[in-house]
Amino acid sequence: MKVLIVEDSPEVVEVVRLCFDLRWPGTEVVNTPSGKKGVELVEKESPNVVILDLGLPDMSGFDVLKEIRLFSDVPVLILTVRDDEVAKVKGLELGADDYIVKPFSHLELLARVRVVLRRSQMPQLKRGERPIQLGDVIIDFAGREVTKAGEAVPLTPTEWKMLTELVRNSGKVLTYETLLRRVWGDEYVDSTEHIKKYVYRLRQKLGDDPADPRIIISARGMGYKLVRPNE
Ligand code: CA
Repeated sequence: MKVLIVEDSPEVVEVVRLCFDLRWPGTEVVNTPSGKKGVELVEKESPNVVILDLGLPDMSGFDVLKEIRLFSDVPVLILTVRDDEVAKVKGLELGADDYIVKPFSHLELLARVRVVLRRSQMPQLKRGERPIQLGDVIIDFAGREVTKAGEAVPLTPTEWKMLTELVRNSGKVLTYETLLRRVWGDEYVDSTEHIKKYVYRLRQKLGDDPADPRIIISARGMGYKLVRPNE
């Protein structure tokens, strides 16, 4: 297991290192204070997970995230400060898998890392599963590819997992609780607001208008369902 932390505060890096040394021995922690170097290290070191600070000396963490997402779907956890909702939403929109609010505890850090790691293990696919077409969106499970009007739509591991759950249950409402449990795991306790942010982003990527959705339908107060391909 390899963790890359892109963070210019030596204290925070030390907390992360200590956390893995104590509680997840054998984890290799690679770090850099530079955003530019961080992008290079994602390519060179192939970490299992990236912990990314948003305030870096050479470039913004958002730009680092954008560059990483051009070539990698490695799980990325962004480090934010308390109550910075704008940063959280923007980070999730740009393809972060989750965020950790500073200061954080060892247990919280590890719980978040475990959840994104489990999510990044893509669901096993049945042989012969055929691509699904929803309007101009084609979801190809075998090729692990989503296209919209012929253009590839890059999805993060979390988005892919959420879409997989919705497709497997298309036509049925998946409650917020079920989605949280299946996509985020049992230990993940969070509000439905979390899911809403992800659905918002997924709809954006699929070109599904939230005011008049044709793909991911809201069941008010309950959850979401994906339309059946022939509906
Ligand atoms: Ca910083």
